[in-house]
Amino acid sequence: MRIDIMTLFPTAVDAMLHESILGRAEAKGVITLQTHQIRAFTTNKQMQVDDYPYGGGRGAVMQADPLYRCWEHICQTHGRGHTIYLSPCGRTFTQAVARELIAAHDHLILVCGHYEGIDQRFIDECVDEEISMGDFVLTGGEIPAMALADAVCRMVPGVLPEEECFTEESHWNNLLEYPQYSRPAEWHGRAVPEVLLSGHHENVAKWRRKESYKRTMHRRPDLFAKFDRSQLTTKAERRLLAEAEAEFAAEVAAQSTSDGAQS
Ligand code: SAM
Repeated sequence: MRIDIMTLFPTAVDAMLHESILGRAEAKGVITLQTHQIRAFTTNKQMQVDDYPYGGGRGAVMQADPLYRCWEHICQTHGRGHTIYLSPCGRTFTQAVARELIAAHDHLILVCGHYEGIDQRFIDECVDEEISMGDFVLTGGEIPAMALADAVCRMVPGVLPEEECFTEESHWNNLLEYPQYSRPAEWHGRAVPEVLLSGHHENVAKWRRKESYKRTMHRRPDLFAKFDRSQLTTKAERRLLAEAEAEFAAEVAAQSTSDGAQS
């Protein structure tokens, strides 16, 4: 996977993206991440990349031409990558979108906006899709681009030691992950659940699966509604889900009884 990032702040992006797991994956040659300073593609002495918005109003808009020259340079050097403008007006980024991008593309070009955004004509001419990090507005596209690159790259084969590293995590299966614990076995009077100390792998796996179901039902009923039950092919798997649903219903009932008692 190759990802080119067009930005006004390459130093900030470089400081983050080449560290840790992604840095090691780059060293192995599994992924390539490269930033490009849009300002280097201006043709004016001041290296200005923005100007007033037509029609008046606040702020400045990033001009189409420096963006185009930067994009054209990347395409001529590394090929025409799938081009994404990080924008609050795009479709919302999710784990499913990250998987879709990996399946369909081996080269992404990420465009980071600033100020009031970028000239629509560049979007119309060069951008394949707009992706948003959520229903809020950030100062620039750098943090969204880093988040997208990180989420995509960690699922590229060879980046993490094994597939289970991400297939057993939150959002892979429309489920949230179970709670995690590390040493010591007791901390501030809080004990680790007994089953995790038992060394009984099957019981640990069942406990984790059940906690994952219940956590998702409690916190993200919208996600749980999308969980595909047809993947539960054995009686034991279906029984475990039924047990989790019964425990969840009991926990909700107990909570509403205690809320009622307090009011
Ligand atoms: N005027 C724009 C609007 O109302 O839609 C917001 C511009 S924002 C201040 C500047 C840049 O930050 C955008 O061009 C975009 O690249 C980035 N950005 C801000 N919020 C974002 C989000 N939720 N997702 C992705 N990118 C975002």
